[in-house]
Amino acid sequence: MSKTVLMLPGDGIGPEIVAEAEKVLHKVNEKFNLGLTFEQALVGGAAIDATGIPLPDETLDKARQADAILLGAVGGPKWDQLEMARRPEKGLLGLRSNLQLFANLRPAILYPQLASASSLKPEVVSGLDIMIVRELTGGIYFGQPRGVRELEGGERQGYNTYVYSESEIRRIGRVAFEAARQRNKKLCSVDKANVLEVTVLWREVMTELAKEYPDVELSHMYVDNAAMQLVRAPKQFDVIVTGNMFGDILSDEAAMLTGSIGMLPSASLNAEKQGMYEPCHGSAPDIAGQGIANPLATILSAAMMLRYSLGEEKAAEAIEAAVSTVLDQGLRTADIMSEGARKVSTLEMGEAVLAAL
Ligand code: NAD
Repeated sequence: MSKTVLMLPGDGIGPEIVAEAEKVLHKVNEKFNLGLTFEQALVGGAAIDATGIPLPDETLDKARQADAILLGAVGGPKWDQLEMARRPEKGLLGLRSNLQLFANLRPAILYPQLASASSLKPEVVSGLDIMIVRELTGGIYFGQPRGVRELEGGERQGYNTYVYSESEIRRIGRVAFEAARQRNKKLCSVDKANVLEVTVLWREVMTELAKEYPDVELSHMYVDNAAMQLVRAPKQFDVIVTGNMFGDILSDEAAMLTGSIGMLPSASLNAEKQGMYEPCHGSAPDIAGQGIANPLATILSAAMMLRYSLGEEKAAEAIEAAVSTVLDQGLRTADIMSEGARKVSTLEMGEAVLAAL
């Protein structure tokens, strides 16, 4: 049966980088006979300009019907003065909540060719390939009650609730165990079980789940130690699974080990494996329209989409290998430029990946 991919270019450099990823997807569609069909829709500032709102019903309908979504980025100074509810970012949040995208997968991959871009020593990070699986729709960011209240005597007190139900832990755990199964079969669950009861439960549920995945080696680590180990010896990790807040922090830490924001893809999945795939970076208004943005994070997001939502591992690997080939050839967009390399435009980088495929 034919599968549908919805393209949401968005704003700023979004249309430029999505155009290159789309060409790559068309190429693998043909080469591997995937039978994919493609749709387009508006989101973010582009949707505000055309319809007055960041997530039009037509876009949401198309998103619900699609098997997977590839998003560029949303936002920019043009829309910064709008009230919160009408800002471009609301389009993204609306997609995440409407599609119940509870699992955020963020790989931190450092291609050996780019080892000098990291702030850590090349031997510590060269060849780094970690996947962080972050719970995205629960935990302390959403727990009730929350707020700021006034105590007797007039002092103000802020409070949030850190809460996870067993079923929420189990479903993110399954995503992580399955991701580990497709990789090096090592899963590290990160918690703060020495202090927080909610993460004592987290640890128990992960340990129970491990019985269903005997081929995956499960370990546990406290979040403070995990933050330290990520900069001390990051290559010890394969897949890390953690809650919303710890994942927010650790995934940014891990991403920055690679030193190049233009290279990092991400995925947000729901229980049906439907997913939204996007680069980790934003719409980069400072370089939009100049044809110099790095399209590789978006192209690698397309590879993740083939792997996790469309079940097309071979096509995913082919794209990743093609990206590695163009880096071997010494081609670099401005953001990853180094001495001796050849500087290329967004379009040239996309064309080089196509040629390598
Ligand atoms: P940004 O990620 O857009 O840019 C940060 C810096 O990295 C800029 O100097 C930019 O030029 C550079 N950069 C980013 N992607 C690049 C690429 N592919 N190639 C080369 N250089 C690249 O972050 P920001 O400047 O904080 O935000 C700009 C806008 O993007 C804001 O409106 C923000 O709200 C929005 N944003 C959107 C998303 C999203 O859509 N998921 C995420 C983050 C920020």
